[in-house]
Amino acid sequence: MQKDRSWTEIDLDNFTYNISELKKFIGRKSFMQIVKADAYGHGGYQIAKKALELGAVYLGVANAEEGTLLRFQGITSPILILSPSLTSEIPIIIENNLTPTVSTLRFAMELNKQLQDELSIHVNIDTGMGRSGFNFKNAAHNISKIKKLDKLNIIGVFSHYSAAEDDSKFTEKQTQLFSKVIQEIDILPRFVHIENSSGAVNAQVQFTNLVRIGLLSYGIYADRSLQGKIDLKPVMRYKTKISQIKIAEKGDSIGYNRTFIAPKKMKYAILPVGYADGYDFMLSNKALAVVNNQLCPILGKISMDMSAVDVSQLEKVNLGDEVMLLGNNFAEIRAENLTALYGGSAYEILCQIGRRAKRYYKQNGKIIASSPFLRRDFVPSDFSNKKLTDIIETAIEHRLQSKEIANLIYEDVLKRFFSERDRDIHYRRKFRHTIEFMQPAKPEFRDYFLAKTTLRFSKKLQHDYFYVACAPDEAKLEQYFRRTDVEYRWLLNSNLDTDQFKINSVQINGVELDYTASYKNGCLEIRCQHEKLAELVGQEVEFSISTSTYYPKSSHQLSVYLIELTQGVDIRFIFGDILQEVEAVPIFSGRSKFPQITEKKGEIRVQAQPDEWVFPSSGVVFVY
Ligand SMILES: *Cc1c(COP(=O)(O)O)cnc(C)c1O
Repeated sequence: MQKDRSWTEIDLDNFTYNISELKKFIGRKSFMQIVKADAYGHGGYQIAKKALELGAVYLGVANAEEGTLLRFQGITSPILILSPSLTSEIPIIIENNLTPTVSTLRFAMELNKQLQDELSIHVNIDTGMGRSGFNFKNAAHNISKIKKLDKLNIIGVFSHYSAAEDDSKFTEKQTQLFSKVIQEIDILPRFVHIENSSGAVNAQVQFTNLVRIGLLSYGIYADRSLQGKIDLKPVMRYKTKISQIKIAEKGDSIGYNRTFIAPKKMKYAILPVGYADGYDFMLSNKALAVVNNQLCPILGKISMDMSAVDVSQLEKVNLGDEVMLLGNNFAEIRAENLTALYGGSAYEILCQIGRRAKRYYKQNGKIIASSPFLRRDFVPSDFSNKKLTDIIETAIEHRLQSKEIANLIYEDVLKRFFSERDRDIHYRRKFRHTIEFMQPAKPEFRDYFLAKTTLRFSKKLQHDYFYVACAPDEAKLEQYFRRTDVEYRWLLNSNLDTDQFKINSVQINGVELDYTASYKNGCLEIRCQHEKLAELVGQEVEFSISTSTYYPKSSHQLSVYLIELTQGVDIRFIFGDILQEVEAVPIFSGRSKFPQITEKKGEIRVQAQPDEWVFPSSGVVFVY
């Protein structure tokens, strides 16, 4: 937060409070937590996790992609896709065991065709929302048709209110129509549901057993009339910091198009937040913000990346002071009141701000998690190795100061790897590397150690071949770090001929591979292949590479790098009695900075936990 220009705080205690308030209305029914649109900008994963902890039996998402993301993040609960899916999404629905909503027969039939095992579905009935779903008039007929499709298990039938927050008459009409459909159908689905969160509070429905909870759980009153009925606390707070303080003389204008003219001498502050951050342009000259616990008006037009706030009435105000733009300590900055200023929607501003701002999740007054560094949309183009290195550097820097933050960063980086990157990820598991130094047998190599190495790891096979490369200097070695078809690299002392690097054995899943050496720019490239590899591409396989070479005694250090994300690291350096004092200097980036180092006579070993991920650019230097 120290460095952020603006950020959101997601108050999980308030979320918990709202759910407990809602439970008074939900009663004995079950509830589905709606986490579509990244949980209305609050962060799908964290909200899902909390809601499940609080008893949610289902999660509701907008589309298959959102559901898939939650699966990647480790959510195993049932997930309903609320909107109609496209037939092109069927494979990922099946693969991720998501529950689709069926709103057309065509989709039902195509889904049934592609399924091998049974899949649960919910059927959507339109009772007046006028959006997706089977029209209530022919719903029973359609459901009986869907029932005949042998792979589809109708576990739920639902409808959706159009105006449960403010139109009790229409809501009642929808309830009646839905009730009639439920009586007509010849099945008894496990879940029957129509109430959204406003419906849970406003509509008294006897025959449903599941409630879909969205906006109200985020602490927003969908309508003023709800205020007397339920107490809600906003979950999202949006904050920024003062980046400049200025004086306007009487008659000076502030912002684009001079929409604000100072009526007197004024002191105002520049905030590094604009409509590009989700702070709506329509709030220009209208919104209030809280500076040092006082409400202050926003002056002039909100720019893309900046806005101005009147701080004339404040006794003390400083650069860097925190400003709350959206939150809960003043009614004026609640989402529903801010958006009322321009006839906007609270749902929208939450999504808008949540999409861009960094998030900090708070529980019991403590930060327990933070959001990814960048949102998913930005990742593919923005994600370079440079960025990754930056992240890791920051991670290390932070770790020096705080273990709590280090943990967050560890999780964030992992999350980024596994769920937020669109391209294939490469990672290794069970990485075991042994390097053994021995006295050379041949007298002409007396200035060298004979070095025998064995590397084993599991990894998804990318191609039906790979290379082992050996370079005489760092610059030449560098090119091999970037190639995805090189699995092992060795830096040879420049005085040595590349012939002094030899492969003893190279195997995949125990099969000895064929290899051929070629020379390029003074580097040795050994291509390893086997006819059996073609069918293993895409599968995780066990690599085993043994080499022997010579290593200069004068070097006094030996480095082992991890250039890919690696789970489970075990590096052994065996030197017998030929070296006296050896020290291992780990440069690890992962959950812990310090791997376990064990020393016994003639050997030193560096290990990270088998399930612990170690980030790229980690490594260990053995100094002798
Ligand atoms: C978004 C949505 C909800 C949640 O509505 P809230 O008003 O936010 O409680 C429930 N059901 C469906 C089908 C939805 O699309």
